[in-house]
Amino acid sequence: MDGHGRGPETDGVSIDQQRRLVTGLPGPRSQELMARKVAAVAGGVGTTMPVFAAAAGGGIIVDVDGNHLIDLGSGIAVTTVGAANPRVVAAVTAQAAAFTHTCFMVTPYDGYVAVAEALNRITPGDHEKRSALFNSGAEAVENAVKIARAYTGRDAVVVFDHAYHGRTNLTLAMTAKNRPYKHTFGPFAPEVYRVGGSYPYRDGGVDGASAAARAIDQIEKQIGAENLAALVIEPVQGEGGFIEPAPGFLPALAAWCRATGVVFVADEVQTGFARTGDLFACDREGVVPDLIVTAKGIAGGLPLSAVTGRAEIMEGPHEGGLGGTYGGNPIACAAALAAIETIEEDGLVARAREIETLVFRRLTDVQAADDRLGDIRGRGAMLAVELVRSGGDEPDPRLAREVAKAAHARGVIVLTCGTHGNVLRFLPPLTISDALLDDAFDVIAAALEELR
Ligand SMILES: *Cc1c(COP(=O)(O)O)cnc(C)c1O
Repeated sequence: MDGHGRGPETDGVSIDQQRRLVTGLPGPRSQELMARKVAAVAGGVGTTMPVFAAAAGGGIIVDVDGNHLIDLGSGIAVTTVGAANPRVVAAVTAQAAAFTHTCFMVTPYDGYVAVAEALNRITPGDHEKRSALFNSGAEAVENAVKIARAYTGRDAVVVFDHAYHGRTNLTLAMTAKNRPYKHTFGPFAPEVYRVGGSYPYRDGGVDGASAAARAIDQIEKQIGAENLAALVIEPVQGEGGFIEPAPGFLPALAAWCRATGVVFVADEVQTGFARTGDLFACDREGVVPDLIVTAKGIAGGLPLSAVTGRAEIMEGPHEGGLGGTYGGNPIACAAALAAIETIEEDGLVARAREIETLVFRRLTDVQAADDRLGDIRGRGAMLAVELVRSGGDEPDPRLAREVAKAAHARGVIVLTCGTHGNVLRFLPPLTISDALLDDAFDVIAAALEELR
């Protein structure tokens, strides 16, 4: 792959694909805007990096002071096809000029149907499927639970340690981490049960089948399969630390669900749409979920989410039981069709695997001489390093914060995550060039070296 130019060619924007700082960060215009933000926006809405965006494309975000920053976040795994993908821009522009909204439940339109057809085609499994569209990941997770309950006539929902499923009331009950997500916001929805998962770096390398057997035993003893509507799982956990379960874990859980009539729900909100080097993360081990929840990378930056699954399960709810004013908005649907076409026609699954190879090489080079890089993991363009105190595996959230801060100061947008807050996560747009990735990991390696 040509190291330069990929961004502008595929992302349609003539943004110079180079990191370049023309002011200190944040620059004066960002500082002015931040003062307005503090005065106007609720403080509960936080800021990772106090720099305001003016334009974005390829692997670069240009701020309001003219600084060119390298984007290793994709707005949290959303702009997989780039932040100004030309197909998405054209589709959105044409649809906005035709009409912006009718409400699909009032006067339907073909874009919604076409997105449902596309999702039914590309999601795992070749059984008969149906889809329903919503606005956010959390809303789609909630609807997957509604559908599973209506279909099974059961109440309980199982989720896992380190899970993240959103910030609405039901999904907060399903999300594991207290701060910042749950703290002061309870009480939470009932009938949500949490069991242990598979975390190879921190569970002594228990194999996937044994970790699944342990979770299943917990479910059978504490809940009972006959009371369980759905098991909801992220095939690679996102917010919780980019935790990839041991091989065999997901297939064993899916097989148990099939045998017991529990609806197996894959929350692929973060992992879907080529992010992990497969179209969907479930594809890696051939796992076919009963329902799959998608959002984030689905529509090139526009808000859209979906539940897709087995026709008989999706037909569980009564007519009128699913929906919402904006779900499957026509502009978002046009964007999704363009994003899916881009992923398929531009070979972005393969591009995610190239990114994996490059980033793993860069991180393992650093790790060879630095045992604070406890675990390097993830797949495709969803990669992470778990930082620990030298000489052991004690989580080091301070180091993760400091490295992120140093990278930010040099114009590299990097995010942290993990239950212990000690994980640096990398989610570049798949339109980023190799040259920008190399530059970004030079910055991260230098920051780690300075923080010894
Ligand atoms: C981000 C995320 C959600 C919530 O999506 P929103 O669009 O923020 O509501 C749910 N599940 C997973 C795995 C996520 O990463």
